[in-house]
Amino acid sequence: MSFSDGKNIMVYVETVSDIPVGGALEVLTKAHKLAEARGEEVIAVLIGRDLVDAARTAIMAGADKAVIVKKESYQMEEYGTVLTKLAEKFKPFLILSAGTLVGKDLLSLVAGTFHTGYTVDVMDISDRDERLIFTCPVYGGTILNDLVIKGTPAVAAVRPGAFVKELLAERTGKIMEEKVESEEAVHTRIVDVVKEMAEAVNLEEAEVIVSGGRGMGSKENFKLVEKLASACHGVVGATRPAIEAEWVPRSHQVGQSGKIVAPKLYIACGISGATQHVSGMVGSGYIVAVNKDEDAPIFDIADVGIVGDAVKVIPLLIEEIKKTRSL
Ligand code: FAD
Repeated sequence: MSFSDGKNIMVYVETVSDIPVGGALEVLTKAHKLAEARGEEVIAVLIGRDLVDAARTAIMAGADKAVIVKKESYQMEEYGTVLTKLAEKFKPFLILSAGTLVGKDLLSLVAGTFHTGYTVDVMDISDRDERLIFTCPVYGGTILNDLVIKGTPAVAAVRPGAFVKELLAERTGKIMEEKVESEEAVHTRIVDVVKEMAEAVNLEEAEVIVSGGRGMGSKENFKLVEKLASACHGVVGATRPAIEAEWVPRSHQVGQSGKIVAPKLYIACGISGATQHVSGMVGSGYIVAVNKDEDAPIFDIADVGIVGDAVKVIPLLIEEIKKTRSL
């Protein structure tokens, strides 16, 4: 199934506690610019319980229409069916979502249903000669690929932090409620949801991340990373070896097999800068690295590099931050 006459951009707006996630708002702002240049519209789709305020936020971020479908909490088959049926109705040429776990999960079902091209981890979208070009990292972020997606609707999940959200209160749009039957698609039933405490960490939305690696040396020393994060009002990240040593839970892992992050400030302590880690944080606004090896690859991407023992440098940083805050 494909729409040769596809028009407009559809964006799935993921919500947590009925509030749109930051990545979805970033996608809406980018979609607005792309659609406006083509004289087309952005249709936001919100699925959940109580989403009128979220729909208003979606309009402020760039949606021309916000379609609300009332359903219980996220269930891939059900939400995917809703999105697919709305796509059949509105016939967009492009379907986007933030590249969160849910976004990627959901869009794979949508792309599969339409037998169309799907790409994830999109870092840029440009309109060249009336063709959309999707820029995506490959080989752990060492190369950026420009892709064209075959088939309509094209489907793409965007890396959180790739675009800047603009919330403009003066933007106007239409909020509509649609009823979509989806029960027939549900083959599994969620009986219970158990939340790990560690899941509360929201690295993708954090403005400041302080990460520690194997160079921190021990669980005891890793507490310095947590103290620095707290002094900066930031969130703790980690490399895979720090996770494997059980200094911090897995939900804090940044990198190719962890979370892709783009905070305003990323402080890397005792981290070498392996591509599998760097590919998850290279989009950060400002990178500070502390490493005792002056040739560590992390310094190649750092804006500020401190050569020294992290166990000695971090307490000094905390002291300086506290002094600045008390001024
Ligand atoms: P190391 O590479 O061992 O670096 C430690 C650094 O600390 C060194 O540069 C050293 O000079 C410095 N150091 C030592 N002592 C001190 C000190 N006292 N003060 C300051 N600096 C000090 N890794 C991830 O992080 N995230 C991923 O998602 C990920 N996914 C992967 C997926 C695959 C398929 C594979 C194969 C690997 C993956 N890895 C991932 C692992 C990755 O390849 C690296 O092994 C890892 O990132 C290295 O972590 P590190 O920098 O903590 O450790």
